[in-house]
Amino acid sequence: MHCPFCGSQDTRVTDSRLVAEGDQVRRRRQCASCGERFTTYETAELIMPRVIKADDSREDFNEVKLRAGMLRALEKRPVSAESIEAAVERIRQRLRARGEREIDAREIGGEVMRALKRLDQVAYIRFASVYRRFQDLDEFRAEIDRLAQEPEFPAQDEQ
Ligand SMILES: [Zn+2]
Repeated sequence: MHCPFCGSQDTRVTDSRLVAEGDQVRRRRQCASCGERFTTYETAELIMPRVIKADDSREDFNEVKLRAGMLRALEKRPVSAESIEAAVERIRQRLRARGEREIDAREIGGEVMRALKRLDQVAYIRFASVYRRFQDLDEFRAEIDRLAQEPEFPAQDEQ
C-alpha cells in the first residue's frame, strides 16, 4: 500500500480491527518515510444476485430501491435509522447466502416483509397491503388479526 501523502511504498499497519459487524477490516497505517497516518478499509467483494422481475426481465439488485421501499413503509414510524440500516444489511446477507445468481423479485419482497415485521407492525401492514395487494378488506383484516395473535408480535397502540 503506497503512502497517499508521499507515495512511499514503505508503510506499516499500526492497528487492525473488524468493523461493520465483522464485514469490514479497518487498518490504521503509518508511512515510514514521512510519518503520516492514514486509514484503509477492506471489504470482500460480494456479488448480489440479479433480480428477475414480474415480466421476466432482469435487472441488477438495487439497494437504493430496496431502502426506499422500506423507508416509505416506515415513514413517521418510531424506528431508528440504525435499525433500518441493520435490516437492509440483513436482507443483503440473506439474499447473498442463497448463493443464487438470479433471484425472483417476489422473494426480495418477502424478505422485506419479514424485516419490516420485526421492525414495526404498522410499516409491515403498509408494505404488505401494497405488495400483496389485498383483494378486499376482509383479507386485510385477517392479516392484521393473524399478526395480533403472534406472541412475539403483540398488538400495540397507535400513539
Ligand atoms: Zn509518506
